[in-house]
Parts: sequence; C-alpha cells; structure tokens
Amino acid sequence: MRLSRYFMPILKENPKEAEIVSHRLMLRAGMIRQQSQGIYSWLPLGKRVLDKVNAIIRDEQNRAGAIELSMPTLQSAELWQESGRYDAYGKEMLRIKDRQDRPMLYGPTNEEMVTDIFRSSVKSYKDLPLNLYHIQLKFRDEIRPRFGTMRSREFMMKDAYSFDLTREAAEHSYNKMFAAYLRTFDRLGLRAIPMRADTGPIGGKLSHEFIILADTGESEVFCHKDFVDFDIPGEHTDFDSVEGLQAIFDKWTSLYAATSEMHDEAAFNAVPEGDRLSARGIEVGHIFYFGTKYSEPMGAKVQGPDGKEHFVHMGSYGIGPTRLVPAIIEASHDNSGIIWPASVAPFDIVVINMKAGDQACDDTCELIYAALSKAGKDVLYDDTDDRAGTKFATADLIGVPVQIIAGPRAVANGEVEVKDRKTGARETMTIEAAINRFVA
Ligand code: ATP
Ligand code: MG
Repeated sequence: MRLSRYFMPILKENPKEAEIVSHRLMLRAGMIRQQSQGIYSWLPLGKRVLDKVNAIIRDEQNRAGAIELSMPTLQSAELWQESGRYDAYGKEMLRIKDRQDRPMLYGPTNEEMVTDIFRSSVKSYKDLPLNLYHIQLKFRDEIRPRFGTMRSREFMMKDAYSFDLTREAAEHSYNKMFAAYLRTFDRLGLRAIPMRADTGPIGGKLSHEFIILADTGESEVFCHKDFVDFDIPGEHTDFDSVEGLQAIFDKWTSLYAATSEMHDEAAFNAVPEGDRLSARGIEVGHIFYFGTKYSEPMGAKVQGPDGKEHFVHMGSYGIGPTRLVPAIIEASHDNSGIIWPASVAPFDIVVINMKAGDQACDDTCELIYAALSKAGKDVLYDDTDDRAGTKFATADLIGVPVQIIAGPRAVANGEVEVKDRKTGARETMTIEAAINRFVA
C-alpha cells in the first residue's frame, strides 16, 4: 500500500475526549471515528487490525471444532418472549418496531436465535456435540459507553454456542472453548487469566471471564501471581481428548483467581502474601455453561440413546474483538505510539522514503516495496513528500513492527536502515540484505 494513495487520517494533537491511552492512540492513528455516542466506524488501518484479530479467533474456534455461520443483527421479539428474556433484559436492549408494528430488537447476544436454529433441525443425540459460532455486531445500550471501542454500544462479538446431550459432555465442550481461549489470547500477544465469574443476565452454573491485567481495566480482580507464567496449550492439543482438556482446565483453575463479584476474601488471604496479585483488569472473553436454561422453555430437545427425548445442555462463549484491539494497545505501547504484536499488526513492514523525488531513494524504495510485497508481506510504503521527522513519527505512532528507512546518504552506499519498532534497535545493511531478512 502506498501511503500517498491510502486513507489514514493521522491526528497531530491529542484528542481531548480520550481518557485512556488506547483510545487516544486509536484516534491519533486514524483507526476509528466516533459516529454517535458509543458507535464507531473502523477506518482502513483499524479495519486491518480488527480483521487480523478475527482471523486468529476464527482459526482457534475452528481448531476446537466449532462451526461458523452468520446470524442477523436484527431479531424478532417473539423468540425472546419464548425464553422469557424480552422483559427481563432491561434498557440495554434496543427495541425497534418495523413498518407492520412488529416488535424487533438489535441483538445483544444470540442464545435464543441459535436455539431456534438448533431445534428446527437437530433431532438426535447422534448429531451432537455441536458448537455453532459467528462473528457479528451486537448492540447494548450501555449506560456509560466510554474508552472508545473498549466499551461501546455497537460492538463486535465472536459468540459460540454449544449443544450436548448430558452435563458431562457439555463440560467437555466448555473445556474446548476454555483451551481455545487460552490459545487465542496468547496468539494475540496477551496474557489473559481465566477467573471465576458471575453469570449475569445470561444465567447459568459454570462461568469464567478471561481477564487481561491493565491499570485502566474496569474490573477489580484478585489472583495468584503464578498465572502470569503458566504454559499455554500447544497447537497439537487434542480437543477430542476428554482427559487432556480436563487436565488443562484443572491446571488453569488450580489457583485462586476471581473478579470482584465472586471475590472470597478468606480464600484469597489463604494465598501466601507474596503470591497475591490484586489488580485491575479488562474482560476480553466470557464463557458460560447454563444447562437447559434456554432449551427447556424453547423446547430444544433430542432423542437420546435410550429412545427418550432430552433437553440439550448448552453453553455460550463470547470474545470481544472490538474491545481486544484497544486492550492490545493498553498492553503494548510507548510514548511514541502503538507497538503491535506481529500477529495483528496492520502492516508487517513500513518502507520510509526520506526524500521522495530523489531518484536513488525512489528507486531503492520501489525495489524493496516490490520485492517484499511479492514475497507476501503486507507493506506500507511511505512515498509522501512529508518531512522525514513527520514520517518517523507516523511510523512509530501506527506501530508497524519493522521500519526500513531509505535516506540519500545510505542509499548512495547501497544501504538502508532497518529499525525494530519495539526495541528501537537500528541496523544499517545492504539493500539486498534488508530484503533477504524478510523474504527468507
Ligand atoms: P462487561 O461486563 O464488560 O459489560 P459483559 O459481561 O456484559 O461485559 P458478555 O455478555 O460476557 O459481556 O460479552 C462477551 C464479550 O463481549 C465480553 O467479554 C467483551 O469482550 C465483549 N463486550 C461486552 N460488552 C461490550 C461492550 N459494550 N463493548 C465492547 N465489547 C463488549
Ligand atoms: Mg461478561
């Protein structure tokens, strides 16, 4: 991508409305724009990061055996009347009427709709286990939308829903998502700790929130500090192994970890003082097992091996991609801007032409840009005629992991500079060596 032809509206000044660093940096880097309170457009640079986050989430959901579909944002109120949640949900639900005066709503979550899909076609235990997910916009009319897309009214959610014949089978499905979440957040460059959680309006029995420790987090959390170094399940984890997944779950729940709603002061005080971590955190995922809470009122049942009908046991599993993007920034930035983990960076490399219009600089940059693009790298080429200082500041602000800098003096020697955004380390090398480093 040539910056001269891209759309990346950088702000020079710090936006006044931004209270936390991620919100400030997302606005300054031209990633998002607020359209009305708690409702955002994702501008091209932000959209690239969001797409990469979603690709990792999708990859891990698929690995764990979940199947993707797509459900609509607008739902009919009828389904929610069946489950009893239409009245229970309160003012967070945006209620709408269509031209026939039929009550509709903008979905805050999809338990009812997916249960309806399930009951319309699944009739036998032989079709279980089943886990269906989508990545879709949700709307919750939050009392206090704030911190940009961290807590917005319209936001994206990956929500998965599992169906099983028995409680034991449902626990295995829960454990699959538990392990998939550990892997997902790790690949996003985050350390998320599963904590015992309240089940809230979703209702239910077993529930964990995945929390990232951050000073700006809205949750108050308490946990054993060893969680910070626990091993993440590897990519060859066998998701069909009941014992294997139970062992992962048992290990990751063996030490104290709870949010303030579930906090047990006495249990926490039993943790040796030096091992206690009481901190603030950001909830990036939440998983629930809720048994037959929806299948009973909505009549979702299958025939079991005993020939009888059984209400299915369900769970639901949410991750917030539009919250994860600022959460990653909260965890990874410095005074100059964002530092993206390579896995979600909007571009892999930015090529900075320090003197656009200078034939040697232009030729060198074009050569590098073409070679790296051909090798499949996402390259941003800063070919604008801005001052070098402005270009450096922009490259640091948008946090691309690698900068290749071509200035007249180095180029005259057949060389460029390669800068690592995270460490700040700079290295001068031949043009060929610079290309080879990233092509190999
Ligand atoms: P919170 O306690 O932060 O309000 P929640 O418990 O209501 O969230 P869930 O129903 O568990 O949220 O939703 C699953 C995930 O969706 C959350 O873990 C979070 O990552 C994301 N999410 C929920 N509400 C919002 C929001 N208003 N803005 C952005 N992401 C959200
Ligand atoms: Mg939650």
